[in-house]
Amino acid sequence: MRVAFLGLGIMGRPMAANLVKAGHEVAVWNRTPGKQVEGARTATTPADAANGAEVVWMCVSDTKAVDSVLFGAGGVNETIGSGAIVVDSSTISPSAELSFAQRLRAKGADLVDAPVTGSKVAAEAGSLIFMVGGDEGVLAKLEPLFKAMGKQVFRMGETSKGQAAKIVMNLQIALIFEGFAEALTLAAKLGVNLETLLPLIQASMVRSGVVEYKAPFILKRDFTPNFPLRLMLKDIRLARDAAKEVRVKLPGLETVEEVYEMAAEEGQEDLDYAATLTLLEKWAGVDVKGAA
Ligand code: NAP
Repeated sequence: MRVAFLGLGIMGRPMAANLVKAGHEVAVWNRTPGKQVEGARTATTPADAANGAEVVWMCVSDTKAVDSVLFGAGGVNETIGSGAIVVDSSTISPSAELSFAQRLRAKGADLVDAPVTGSKVAAEAGSLIFMVGGDEGVLAKLEPLFKAMGKQVFRMGETSKGQAAKIVMNLQIALIFEGFAEALTLAAKLGVNLETLLPLIQASMVRSGVVEYKAPFILKRDFTPNFPLRLMLKDIRLARDAAKEVRVKLPGLETVEEVYEMAAEEGQEDLDYAATLTLLEKWAGVDVKGAA
């Protein structure tokens, strides 16, 4: 298929590379020039990339970025053809996604929201999990592309329901990780070290994929970003905003947001969100690794 891929960040670049590997004709574009994907044409603007594309796939930071890529100067809207499909793998506001879809529909194009879970490792391995919102007939056309980049596709409903599912997934990750980090901090203060506690956690009903994924990084004190703290904070805010729109109270997430805001103020924005542990350690005057 002729595919435009917009946004070559931690996630987008390996996703686009996997489309090339699967034999698709890919044009890529990134806001900051200099990023390329071997075997793909490098376009000068989103409009240039989208020109003649059957599918325009995006993976950029946030709602504002998607708005600008679609409707800003040199945006997709300028060249998108009738019958083309725009797929958004960025994590953004569900209500904004719906309004973007309506604007594109005026051009005869469909929008499918397809945010992902699986992080950098899964993006590279082509084993992402997509949670998707869109018409079933439109989704069927995208099957070979999903296959090239991912291992599973969950249809959550019509357009914007993929984004709704994504933000409630990240709400849980943020709360589960916060529980884990607070437990490690208190355990260290009480004299139980991480290596001793981990097998107990994973043998019991407390076990989780979040702990399994993050524990090795914490043991190595490796906070280089798999999922940067600034993006998790963005997703916490997306969940809080969506909750406000439908008048739902999220007291746990509200508190976790404050922790992330303080971590960001301490300069941890570009570290992995697991670095929030170091803030808890600082407040407690304890070092989780040092307790070993
Ligand atoms: P990233 O490495 O920070 O890359 C962000 C991309 O968005 C870059 O290509 C950046 O371009 C582009 N961008 C930012 N603002 C823009 C704007 N105003 N106009 C056009 N392009 C803009 O982020 P990522 O980790 O790939 O994440 C991308 C999306 O996937 C986010 O919504 C994130 O929440 C979601 N996601 C990430 C993960 C993960 O583990 N990393 C997992 C699941 C979902 P420049 O190069 O010019 O800055």
